[in-house]
Amino acid sequence: MIKAIFFDLDDTLLWDQKSIKEAFAATCKLAEERYGIDSNQLEEAVREAARNLYSSYEIYPFTRMIGINPFEGLWGNFLDEQDDFKKMKEIVPSYRKDAWTTGLKTMGVDDPDFGYELAERFPQERKKAPFVYEETFKTLDELKKNYQLLLLTNGSPDLQKTKLTITKELIPYFDQIVISGDFGRGKPDPAIFEHALTLMSIERDEVIMVGDNLMTDILGANRAGIKSVWLNRHNKKPNEVIPTYEIQHLEELYGILEKL
Ligand SMILES: [Mg+2]
Repeated sequence: MIKAIFFDLDDTLLWDQKSIKEAFAATCKLAEERYGIDSNQLEEAVREAARNLYSSYEIYPFTRMIGINPFEGLWGNFLDEQDDFKKMKEIVPSYRKDAWTTGLKTMGVDDPDFGYELAERFPQERKKAPFVYEETFKTLDELKKNYQLLLLTNGSPDLQKTKLTITKELIPYFDQIVISGDFGRGKPDPAIFEHALTLMSIERDEVIMVGDNLMTDILGANRAGIKSVWLNRHNKKPNEVIPTYEIQHLEELYGILEKL
């Protein structure tokens, strides 16, 4: 019998990709106004520069293990205790400036001061643009009646808490909130799932994991022997990681849970 549901946060309950997209659009528009360059092309150029720079840093393996993507690096402060986060905090100001300046250069604009300006603007725009899916609260309201809920999210505690602070209506739904940066390892490491089970005092067959990412949420659940639901909103192609169930919309969870 299922007693609890573990939920992923980003792009499962919170529409992070849309928030990032909107923040890019607002920031790139400034460059379009100033230099007449195409804002969509600039966005692509900055995303590419960010990915390249990010993977060149010594702390890159740490960001992979905890689960912090390059675009989170463009707006997070990483005011966390652990040493690797301290390194991140030192790196991010120049990372941001360099990513934006390189993106501008790709577009034929050599203006590092403006790159800095855009880099500082992007985090403000991201914070202004929190999105949840239209069915998020409705689904949580419904599930909360019968299940314990735990939020199991990869990332920097400081950044994940910032996301939750700007969408604070989400917080009361959860009996526990587990952030990989606090625990020390991220999904798909089975250890963080075990940790979550211990916190809830439940057995692995009493829980189901819901998330959008096969390589973290579903792979991790599989490794921990926990049933899973892959939320595949955008018709992504499956890979070798097999979820127990697949849905396209959160409200499909009701039917699955009824059968269990
Ligand atoms: Mg996710």
